[in-house]
Amino acid sequence: MSKVKEFLTPTEEQEIISAIRTAEKNTSGEIRVHIEATSKKEHFERALEVFHLLKMDNTKDSNAVLLYVAVNDKKFVIYGDKGINDVVPKDFWDSTKDSIQSQFKQGNFKQGMVDGILKAGEELQSHFPYQTDDVDELSNEISKG
Ligand code: CA
Ligand code: CA
Repeated sequence: MSKVKEFLTPTEEQEIISAIRTAEKNTSGEIRVHIEATSKKEHFERALEVFHLLKMDNTKDSNAVLLYVAVNDKKFVIYGDKGINDVVPKDFWDSTKDSIQSQFKQGNFKQGMVDGILKAGEELQSHFPYQTDDVDELSNEISKG
């Protein structure tokens, strides 16, 4: 059995999806999660590729965020689209990365992802507040490679 299948239980996956829904109640930004076993490419490069493959570069305000996890490699990347990078400081994702990292170190993968997603939603709120006419532009389901 691949590590991707063992990584999260179905219940944990639902908790992550629910965290995405909660986070997207704070912001017009769109958050997606992609999990795969390993990447031959450098992980940041691979995250960019996945971002494009999932058509995450097509949001109205270019404000989608990908949380990419390579399970076997024990690596993750947070990548925000250019609409976000244009308006936030360079260290914008640091606190989100820290929340994820501290849980991952203890082997709490689901909790790390949930914390990171909720944190990302809070961080995005001031720059991209939720609008009452918000459209859920990208699926909240977890993508697996
Ligand atoms: Ca939205
Ligand atoms: Ca969404």
